[in-house]
Amino acid sequence: MGLHLFNTLTRRIERFEPMAPESRKVGMYCCGPTVHDYAHIGNFRTFVLSDVVRRYLSFRGYEPHHVMNITDVEDKIIARVGETGSTLSAYTRQYEEAFLNDLKELGCLMPHDMPRATEHMEAIIALIQQLVDRKLAYAAADGSVYFSIARYQEAGCCYGQLQKLDFDQMRPGQRVQSDEYAKDAIADFALWKARTPADGEVFWSSPWGEGRPGWHVECSAMSMQYLGSSFDLHLGGEDLKFPHHEDEIAQSEGAGVQEPGKRFVRHWIHGAHLQVEGKKMSKSLGNYYTLRDLLDQGFDGRCVRFVLLSAHYRESFNFTIDGLKGARTALGRIDECVSRLAKLAANAEASDLENQSELTKGFTSAMDDDLNVSAAWAAVFDWVRETNRQIDQASLTAQQAATEHQAWLAVDQVLGLGAGKDSEEEDIPQAIQTMAQQRQEARNNRDWAEADRLRDALKEQGWRIEDTPDGPRPRRIQDI
Ligand SMILES: [Zn+2]
Repeated sequence: MGLHLFNTLTRRIERFEPMAPESRKVGMYCCGPTVHDYAHIGNFRTFVLSDVVRRYLSFRGYEPHHVMNITDVEDKIIARVGETGSTLSAYTRQYEEAFLNDLKELGCLMPHDMPRATEHMEAIIALIQQLVDRKLAYAAADGSVYFSIARYQEAGCCYGQLQKLDFDQMRPGQRVQSDEYAKDAIADFALWKARTPADGEVFWSSPWGEGRPGWHVECSAMSMQYLGSSFDLHLGGEDLKFPHHEDEIAQSEGAGVQEPGKRFVRHWIHGAHLQVEGKKMSKSLGNYYTLRDLLDQGFDGRCVRFVLLSAHYRESFNFTIDGLKGARTALGRIDECVSRLAKLAANAEASDLENQSELTKGFTSAMDDDLNVSAAWAAVFDWVRETNRQIDQASLTAQQAATEHQAWLAVDQVLGLGAGKDSEEEDIPQAIQTMAQQRQEARNNRDWAEADRLRDALKEQGWRIEDTPDGPRPRRIQDI
């Protein structure tokens, strides 16, 4: 059926077709972090989503070009730089580095390009100039430059494409300096902000005087510089729909740089919010987590990734510590099944029929359907159950095992869990290993009563002993 994705622009699920179908290349841009602090897990839901979109595009034979900007100049950053007495780059680089480490910990592939706003001033200023030349932007008395929504509409363009806006609430002539103005204020927004004393040493020269760019125009300029004036996919959290993404469309299409009939972006994907323990995440409620908070609690990046990928990206999702604990168990099941398969496959060669695996078929049809991860996980766990059953019944040949293993590795290129690697030793607690060893010694000594006692004791703790080519090893008793 091919990949289908919900498009915020048209409000419906559409078959995804890249702009250049013959080359299979796909340009995708994801609004990156504002590096003023450590990112929280709500932010990471969006970044894990864009990682999976990119990986799934590759899985389906496309060649994604993944661009994610780093917003390293913005209102909040400037405030923090002022408070801490640091320089802009010293302040932002520490959080940029932490962010990239967190991405790696979460198993995300590094975007192909990660442009920093502060290193793209020329492109940003050039774009603002184009808007001024086309009379869609105007300089105010203080040297700030604003985008004129009224003139954009007079030119026949639509403001309010991603979200229906209530123009009755519009206050003509009102302007906003802030990057984060109230969501119902439809007002001219700043492209360039004239330097104020509060900006300290953070400023650049421009045709309109010293100042710095607005946040929205950074994304328009950098996305078009790396992906062209029209590209395939733009991603972000749903909170960015308005005003940020609406303003990106207005700036990019207002500049008139697209070929006739072409849009700035064909396909917009927005990830839904995340709640934590049933509530909006907030520092005052104590449910605000950065990734390092969760690592400190003993969870690892793949558990967090698994949880962030457990719900459909358009549904708001309740992130809980219990969910993370459940993720450990679920990942343990996958790990164990995959390592059993790998063992059985040994050195057998996979047939080239991996696409015929129930896993591949179920996973692909689920993900093709607007990245339906719930159905994709169901396909994964059905396959785990069936594979375990076949191994238990010795009805899987080494070559079949190799083929299924290959199918798993392909699917895991999308899931990014790295499951099945070195999982056995990790998963078996020391006490269980010791009991298993004692049982083996009892058997060697023909002390059957003691061996049986240890077997029952292991069973009580949820383990049984399995004979493997490397000798007996404990295996978790599972109901799947
Ligand atoms: Zn952006």
